[in-house]
Amino acid sequence: MGIFLTASGNDSAERSCILLFAKALAKASAMGGLMVVLGCQAQPQVFRDTRVLMGTYVEVVSDNRDAARIVFDEIKRVEGLLSKYDPQSEVSQFNEFGRLSAGPDLYHLLTKAKEYWFATDGAFDITVGPAMDLWGFTTKDFRRPSDAEIADVLKLIGTNKIIFHPSNNVVEFNVPGMEIDLGSIGKGYAVDCAVKALRRAGISNCLINAGGQVYGLGTKAGKPWRVAIKDPRGGEVKNSFDISDQSAATSGDYEQYFVEGDKRFSHIIDPRTGSPADSGVISATVIAADGLTADFLATSLVVLGKRKGMELLKRFPDSRAQFIEQ
Ligand code: ADP
Ligand code: MG
Repeated sequence: MGIFLTASGNDSAERSCILLFAKALAKASAMGGLMVVLGCQAQPQVFRDTRVLMGTYVEVVSDNRDAARIVFDEIKRVEGLLSKYDPQSEVSQFNEFGRLSAGPDLYHLLTKAKEYWFATDGAFDITVGPAMDLWGFTTKDFRRPSDAEIADVLKLIGTNKIIFHPSNNVVEFNVPGMEIDLGSIGKGYAVDCAVKALRRAGISNCLINAGGQVYGLGTKAGKPWRVAIKDPRGGEVKNSFDISDQSAATSGDYEQYFVEGDKRFSHIIDPRTGSPADSGVISATVIAADGLTADFLATSLVVLGKRKGMELLKRFPDSRAQFIEQ
């Protein structure tokens, strides 16, 4: 996901501006999405750091030197719970055994995911894992499955097939072979956890960009954080907006996809068909009060398309969205 980091606060301000701009541009033009625009004018000291976590670049900008460490530690903790690629994570254990006594983070996330499944009439569904595997998105060995294979996989999909035991936080799959995949909300949740940790530490200004999942805590030297949307098919900026104590997330068909013939197959699956979403929306950007809501809505809007997506947004009054259609 693209990000412009052009903040400065030292002697080599102008040089670092240009360098970062060039680096960010190379990345942004390859991937499209959200950028954070920080401006190059003189300003109080800004601390910046980047780490690869949850399979993406996590960038932190703050006027507090401890912010980045706090953010990275917290995101690492959440990654340890949710990663599909770590066999010890709670998500992997649940997928392997079909039953788990979930910790408070995962239990909370699963409860929210069920709520979102109902709110979207099944368009948002964390049990799309088997369809992701079938189309080759998990291994990057992309293929177009047969109708029979898709029909088989659809039997394993449905968040309503997860059984919840609230008395002891045990969750289990109703159908053997089901899998959960929290790729659509994991980063949004991790960012929210990081923001809580920052607040606990008394830090009130910080920008976090976890691969296009952005949270702007407080302000940048008294002004809201500025985020820009890039054209997913081109390089230019489409629009920009300001956030303060808000999150922005973008989802689109340009993050992971393969092309066959003249058709593009993306990593966002329509759980009702078991195939990549084909709603006409190629990118949706959502601003919401928290990262989890923004992340869930952005994914859902790509599946639902603009008309049904606008209906869904009415149920989340603190949220607004921008759609880019084909
Ligand atoms: P990004 O990967 O850019 O953060 P998203 O937040 O839209 O993008 O998440 C996409 C991921 O969500 C996919 O890689 C997959 O793991 C999962 N996913 C795909 N389709 C759905 C869906 N309909 N509902 C919920 N999760 C989905
Ligand atoms: Mg999402």
